[in-house]
Amino acid sequence: MAASIGSVTRQIAALEISTTTKKPSNLPSSSSSSSFRPGHVKQNSQTNVSKLLTKFSAPNPFPNTKPATSSSLRNPLAATTTEKPAIKTPRPLDIGSYDGGLETDNEKRGEKVYGEAADDLALDSSVNGKNPTREWTLHDFDMGRPLGKGKFGRVYMVRTKSEPKYILALKTLYKSEIVQSRVEKQIRREIEIQQNLRHPNVLRLYGYFHDEKRIFLMLEFAGKGELYKQLSKYGRFSERRSAKYIYQMADALIYLHGKHVIHRDIKPENLLLGINGELKIGDFGWSVHAPGNRRKTLCGTLDYLPPEMVEGKDHTERVDHWALGVLTYEFLVGNPPFEDKNSVNNTYRKIAKVDLRFPKGLSPEVQDLISRLLQHDPPKRLALDQVISHPWILQHSKSWAP
Ligand code: AMP
Repeated sequence: MAASIGSVTRQIAALEISTTTKKPSNLPSSSSSSSFRPGHVKQNSQTNVSKLLTKFSAPNPFPNTKPATSSSLRNPLAATTTEKPAIKTPRPLDIGSYDGGLETDNEKRGEKVYGEAADDLALDSSVNGKNPTREWTLHDFDMGRPLGKGKFGRVYMVRTKSEPKYILALKTLYKSEIVQSRVEKQIRREIEIQQNLRHPNVLRLYGYFHDEKRIFLMLEFAGKGELYKQLSKYGRFSERRSAKYIYQMADALIYLHGKHVIHRDIKPENLLLGINGELKIGDFGWSVHAPGNRRKTLCGTLDYLPPEMVEGKDHTERVDHWALGVLTYEFLVGNPPFEDKNSVNNTYRKIAKVDLRFPKGLSPEVQDLISRLLQHDPPKRLALDQVISHPWILQHSKSWAP
């Protein structure tokens, strides 16, 4: 097993971290796909808080080099006069109050793990991968408010004690619980995959470290929380809002597939929102790094399973195209298209038959997009670059493009 982990690690380490995203052909040639990010480029006058957060959750907060000291940045006049420097330093952002949950948890749950599992879970980004970070420990952070509870531990808003003081989400995972669920290889793979990804709509994993009982993940802070909560709150989204999310999803998937990463578990519960409301794919629990590989594992959420997985056949990255169709439908209608709350078998049957029905009120353009993604035959599903240049996306992009 160690050999297989080693080979996955090497494959991932060999990946080139560059975007393979193509821009839609009908966009101006001067804009790259990442610069044509309507949701991103649009700078509204929003709050200073957004700006601060964007600054403090900046893309590369942990270079190996030491940050410039304040003396090298200060106003040169300040050295010769007694006046205060003219440069205003932003007030540190409030991270809320810590509830002591990590200590409480540590007493109640979790035991040491031994043997191969301990080796698998000895995860430390300062000695791993081709972009090692500095060494981190829990003492390097000021703890803030709880953000949520996951299956294996709590998530906190934190700030690095050293300058520049970055805001992050620190996620705890109890090693013994991972071992009990027999997902140590999967967790390790998830972490290795996510640390190598850099895309504005993919949640960044900046680094990770561990102690005897726990693993800590230093994640990009998703300031607007879970997308699922928004969907539950509003019931469904407008076509305009949905189009923006679907564009961002498709762009992120082009990037992931370019790196041979199949997500396999796209659903609203796995999506977070950044401080400017931009979508962030946040859960890589089921993703697979599979260059040229076809997989047979049955995974993912029932409502989002494509026919080939329901039918136990091989599957490819086209499973994510199908899930994108299901997601578009769920955003607009409020429930997934093949859902049958009374019978799992009925859901399976509907998926296998592609029994797709649209309620009244959906535009013909979005019905066209969904139908083209929800094709039984995987190769027939609409390509992702055609998703981002689909008339439905372009029509709505006018309202969120710069
Ligand atoms: P998870 O273990 O990923 O299911 O996380 C548990 C909860 O913590 C989620 O449902 C979110 O509400 C919150 N959370 C997780 N990661 C983040 C993040 N990066 N930024 C903000 N909130 C998060």
